[in-house]
Amino acid sequence: MNISELENKTVGELSGVGPKSVKSYASLGIETIADLVKMMPRGYEDRSHRVCIGRQTGDGLLTNTIVTVLGKSKFGKGLKSVKAVVEDMETGVRAEILGFNRPFLDHVIYEGCIYHLYGNQMAQDGHRIAQFSQFELKPVREEELMRPDAVINGGMLAVYSLSGNLTQNIVRRDVANALRNITVIDEILPSNLIEKYRLIDYDSAIRKMHNPLCEEDIVNSRRTLAFSEVFYMQLASMRRPAGSDIRRSTEKRVYEQESRFIANLSFKLTGDQEKVLDEIRTDMSKSESMNRLLQGDVGSGKTMVAWISAVHVIAEGRQVAFMAPTELLARQHSQNAAKLFEKTGISVAYLDGEVHGKSRQLLLEQLAKGNINLLIGTHALFSKDVKFSNLGYVIIDEQHRFGVEQRNALFRKGENPDILLMTATPIPRTLALTVYGNLNVSTIKTMPAGRIPIKTFLVDSSRRQEMYRSVGVELSRGHQAYFVYPRIEADEEQQDSSGLRDVETMYGYLSTRQYPQFRGALIHSRLSDDEKIKILNDFSEKKLDYLVATSVVEVGLDVPEATCMVVEHAEVFGLSALHQLRGRVGRSSLASWCFLVYEKNISDDGKKRLSVLRRTNDGFEIAEEDLKIRGPGEITGLRQSGFTNLKYASMDRDIEMMACARDEVAAILKDDPGLLSVGNSVIRQNLFT
Ligand code: ADP
Ligand code: MG
Repeated sequence: MNISELENKTVGELSGVGPKSVKSYASLGIETIADLVKMMPRGYEDRSHRVCIGRQTGDGLLTNTIVTVLGKSKFGKGLKSVKAVVEDMETGVRAEILGFNRPFLDHVIYEGCIYHLYGNQMAQDGHRIAQFSQFELKPVREEELMRPDAVINGGMLAVYSLSGNLTQNIVRRDVANALRNITVIDEILPSNLIEKYRLIDYDSAIRKMHNPLCEEDIVNSRRTLAFSEVFYMQLASMRRPAGSDIRRSTEKRVYEQESRFIANLSFKLTGDQEKVLDEIRTDMSKSESMNRLLQGDVGSGKTMVAWISAVHVIAEGRQVAFMAPTELLARQHSQNAAKLFEKTGISVAYLDGEVHGKSRQLLLEQLAKGNINLLIGTHALFSKDVKFSNLGYVIIDEQHRFGVEQRNALFRKGENPDILLMTATPIPRTLALTVYGNLNVSTIKTMPAGRIPIKTFLVDSSRRQEMYRSVGVELSRGHQAYFVYPRIEADEEQQDSSGLRDVETMYGYLSTRQYPQFRGALIHSRLSDDEKIKILNDFSEKKLDYLVATSVVEVGLDVPEATCMVVEHAEVFGLSALHQLRGRVGRSSLASWCFLVYEKNISDDGKKRLSVLRRTNDGFEIAEEDLKIRGPGEITGLRQSGFTNLKYASMDRDIEMMACARDEVAAILKDDPGLLSVGNSVIRQNLFT
């Protein structure tokens, strides 16, 4: 079965998956059965070795052994909790099993009986005897005791990320169900590559990822999936239209509509904007379609370049799609565009997953008729039912936040539009070449005139009071501020020795002690999207004076009157992340400040890193430093959102693999640009069915 067939089936179609689970899966980004089977476990539990009570190894307080129950009692409210004392059959060491609110255990655990115990021992602080509150206990039959290893050996068990009502057992069951219904998953890589790089077949790679028997299975599976992923990533960025689709080259020109649009702007374009527009017009006059990456710091005027180039394409009678990674950003763009294009005769429409029913149908009709020139939205722009009449140009904002599949969905539209990818995350040139193959890169380095450079201060944490006072002065002028902390809550981990400040505690402190007269709000990744959108909207409408946040504010927020960025424990953030955070201020002609607060115990290296930020505002220089100091995995500083949204491959481990994949893809496309040969039919099938 081709994996893309499963993309039409929602997880709700699996037996046992109800609406609640559907919602929980959705919040993990899993909507279809394909998403589910491609989901990579967060890790694995090694149940292949016996680990006796009292013999735990360093990192694990994990126990995997056979025990006898010596005694049992009930305790707690309504006697709903069950406690048992057990003894390890091999070491004779005793432990307590605590089943909080698990009354049914009373009917499972019997004195004198023998069980296989698998669990994580609780922190022993002060207790004489080991305790377990998270455990599995399975009765062992007399005859099984002859081969205790067989009882204990549960192999390697996948551990998944969870959300909502999902438990490990539910996810494991659903994945198993999904896989059982698939006889065999079609191969997606040409066989010569599988051999050359010693990969395994795709079907086994997927299955072994979920059910490995040993460490080696995990390694082979991951290598195979990572290679496939970077292979298709390279293909997405390098693929050119097949011979028959190549368009006629035209004379390079600036259309009248375009010059009028530029003349009506309230400002003059910067030299860099002019230069990039010229590069784009050159690309667009060529017979091959454009594939260009536009880099530039936030606020450097990339989006404006995109709009102008859109006018160029629309003047030629083609349609334009503009895709942003979140609803919030897509909305922001579409509101701006509505104003900009108001008197131009260009018709603009907005589409995301929330546009349903009649209005969606109407929109799709108008789009198919060619009555909509510019469609702005989220990845919903490329859902199966969206049909353009003449799609000529696709602009992708914050491109690193889209996955390979979403970009490949473009090709499935059957068109070969010009493509402009935009990013505010500067990537050093050497790395860009590896990651993006032969993509053309344009860069905007200068900021629009009238911007005052952000002043960056490194603040020793003993001098925080002074800093809070300075920020208070800005707030009382009616300006706004961000306070960023590395963690959400104080007791995130059981044994918390990190002592890092967290948003919850600090919000309490700032709102009662420092700034009781100002309006603040707390924002972090655990809030729902709706809550986040509401808070960000309130902030941009100046109903709030300050935000206390985790690094969620990194993402594309544009609030001109925010003039202060305070990052505490700056030493634990990556340089690029700090640079992105700093980019939230200095977005107007107001003077602005960035305070990077560090702790006493900061290393020399840490200080050196922070001083890079004080020295320069140039995102590229900072990215180069980050690359030197921390390696490519940290380049974006946005590990969570993922550089290219890679599922399996990692910027740390797999740079070499990316280079290999790039060379392979280049060779394949050179010989067979349309992927028409028999050897490449697996690729064609994977892309187009
Ligand atoms: P980016 O997409 O790189 O973040 P935008 O294109 O959104 O940047 O521009 C940021 C802000 O600067 C917008 O409000 C935009 O209208 C404005 N802007 C763009 N180009 C110029 C310019 N040449 N001069 C002055 N302001 C500009
Ligand atoms: Mg932008």
